[in-house]
Amino acid sequence: MDVNVNKPHCTGCSHCFDVCPVAVFEMREIAKDPDGSKGYINADNTPEDKKWKGVEDKTYYDKWHDQTCHEHYTKKSVAINGSACILCQACLIECEGECITITDDQGQVYQSIYK
Ligand code: SF4
Ligand code: SF4
Repeated sequence: MDVNVNKPHCTGCSHCFDVCPVAVFEMREIAKDPDGSKGYINADNTPEDKKWKGVEDKTYYDKWHDQTCHEHYTKKSVAINGSACILCQACLIECEGECITITDDQGQVYQSIYK
C-alpha cells in the first residue's frame, strides 16, 4: 500500500492523523521546513508535482485559512508509514484538502473527497 499527501492542498487540519488506526500520518511543522528543501515535509512518496515548495493551493487556502474550528496551516501531513495502511478509508472522508491518495498492491487508486 502506498499513501501520499498532495502537500499544497493540505490544510494541516490533522484529521487524517486523528482518525488513522495504524498511525500512517505524522503532522510536521511548516516552520521547520518552510519551502520543503530540507526534506522534512516531503519525507513521504508524494510525487514531485505535489510536494511542498512553500506555496499553498489558493482554492483550499481561501476556503480554510480563517476557519477557527481548529488549527490550520501551521503543519502538513506526512504519510511516513504508508505500508501499514489497512484501507479503512477513514482518512479519505475526513480530509479537508481532498489531498490523500492511496494506491493498493493491485494498483487500484483511492482518492479523498471531503464528506
Ligand atoms: S485508509 Fe489507511 S491511511 Fe487512511 S485512515 Fe485508514 S489505515 Fe489510515
Ligand atoms: S486530513 Fe487532509 S488536509 Fe487534513 S492534515 Fe490530513 S492530509 Fe492534510
